[in-house]
Amino acid sequence: MKTLYLYNSLTRKKEEFKPLHPPRVGMYVCGPTVYGDPHLGHARPAIVFDVLYRYLRHLGYQVRYVRNITDVGHLENDADEGEDKIQKKARLEQLEPMEVAEYYTHRYHKYMDLLNVLRPSIEPHATGHILEQIEFIEKIMEAGYAYESNGSVYFDVRKYSQDYPYGQLSGRDINELIAQSRELEGTSEKRDPLDFALWKKASPTHLMRWRSPWSVGFPGWHLECSTMSTKYLGTTFDIHGGGMDLQFPHHECEIAQSTAAYKSPPVRYWVHNNLITINGQKMSKSLNNFITLEELFEGKHPLLSRPYSPMVVRFFILQAHYRGTLDFSDETLKAADKAFERFSKAFKSIEKLSTGAELSNANISEIADKCYEALSDDLNTPVAISHLFEAVRLINHAFHHRLTVSEKQKQALLELRKTFVEDILGFILPEDNRTEVEFEKVISILIDVRKQLRASKQFQLADYIRDQLQKNGIMLKDMKDETTWEWMNVNPDE
Ligand code: ZN
Repeated sequence: MKTLYLYNSLTRKKEEFKPLHPPRVGMYVCGPTVYGDPHLGHARPAIVFDVLYRYLRHLGYQVRYVRNITDVGHLENDADEGEDKIQKKARLEQLEPMEVAEYYTHRYHKYMDLLNVLRPSIEPHATGHILEQIEFIEKIMEAGYAYESNGSVYFDVRKYSQDYPYGQLSGRDINELIAQSRELEGTSEKRDPLDFALWKKASPTHLMRWRSPWSVGFPGWHLECSTMSTKYLGTTFDIHGGGMDLQFPHHECEIAQSTAAYKSPPVRYWVHNNLITINGQKMSKSLNNFITLEELFEGKHPLLSRPYSPMVVRFFILQAHYRGTLDFSDETLKAADKAFERFSKAFKSIEKLSTGAELSNANISEIADKCYEALSDDLNTPVAISHLFEAVRLINHAFHHRLTVSEKQKQALLELRKTFVEDILGFILPEDNRTEVEFEKVISILIDVRKQLRASKQFQLADYIRDQLQKNGIMLKDMKDETTWEWMNVNPDE
C-alpha cells in the first residue's frame, strides 16, 4: 500500500498515516447545521474530505466515513446562549423545526450530489442520538468533569485542564483563556465562564426538548460529535475532519468530552480545511457576499456574471491546496472554467486518438507516479492537477500535429483518466457535444441552399437535396415561413 502523509493539526506536522486497525479506517467529518440553503462554505469541506475518502479507498482501505447532520443544539452565537438556529428559522417561517431540518437536509444532499460528493457510510442525526448523548453526559459526570446547575449540565474546563491538556489543537493557553474570561464573568449559572453546556434546560418557549435526568431540555452542540463518532467509530479513531473555524471551540470541546469520558484522546489525525473568502472578504450575510450553491450554478447573484457548473466549482476548489485560503471571485471562477474546459476536452478525446507509432517524449506512467506522489503528500490536489495537465498537453500535441500514440500509451491515458480524473478527484467530464452542434449547422446550411434553389426555380436540385436527406433518415418539413427537420422513425429491423 502506498504511504500517505497527512498534516495533523494537533501535532502541527505531516505524519505518515497509519490506521489503528488496517485495512479499516474510521473517519468522522463535521457536517452541516441544516437551517439554511447549502452555500460555498459547505462545498469546500465536502469536496476536500470527499477526495480524501476516495483516495483512501483507492489505496485499498475500507473506510467507514461518518458525517453528521446537526439538527438540534447549534445556538445562534456558536456558544451556549442565543436561540437554536433551526428553531429560529422554524419560528420565522411558521414551520416545525423538523420540517426545516428535513428540507435543508434534502437541499444539502441535492447540491452535494451535483458536486459529485459521495455520500458518507453513515450520516447520523443529532436528534436521533439523544439517549446516547444523555449517557455520554452521565459518563463525564461520573468521571467528575461535569456538574449540574439549575437543570443544565456544564463541562468543568478548569478541573479537566488540571488533569489533561486543554487548548492544544487550537493553540490556546488555558491560563490566557482563564484571564480573558474573568472579565466576562457575570450572572451565568456556570461555575466558570470557560465551561460549556452539555445539556441545557429548555425555556418555556423552546420547541425542541427531551426528557433527561436533569431537566426537560436539549443537548449542547459539541456533544453530538463526541457521541456519534464514539458510537460508530470507537473511543479512539483515525481521522477527524472539518473546517478550520471549528477548531475552537467545537473540536477542542470534543477532545475534552471524549477524553474526560474515556481517559484517552479520541482522534489520531485531525485534518482541517481552510476557509473560502469572497473577493478577499469573509463570507457573511451582512456583507452581501453570501453565495448559495443554487445561485452559483444558476448565475443568480450580483457578484456573478454567469452560471458556473458544479464541476467547474469542484475544479476551482481542488486547484487550491486544502490548507491554503481560497479566494472566490467571478474572475477566478472564469479562469477555472476555461482551464476545466481545456482539461475535460482533452481527457474526453482520448478515444479519438489514432494509434500507430509511439508518441515520443510521452511517458504516461511517469505522470501517474507523480500524481500519486502529490496526493500522498498531504493530498496535494493542485500539484496532481498540474501533472494531469502534462497529459492534456500530450493529447493536444498529438491532435495538433496529427501524430499517433501507441496502443499502450492510449490505454495508459485512459487509465490515467479513470484513476485520477474520475475516481480520485471525482470529476464528471462533460459530454463532448461538438459533433452534434456541427451536424446541426451542416443541416441548416443544406436547408438554406435548398431554399435559394427553390427561389431561383431550380426545383430538380432542391428536390435532390430533400430526397437524399430522406434516404438518410432526415425528414424535412416545410412550414409557412421556415423549414425544419427531424429524424424519421427508422425500424431497427429493416
Ligand atoms: Zn462536529
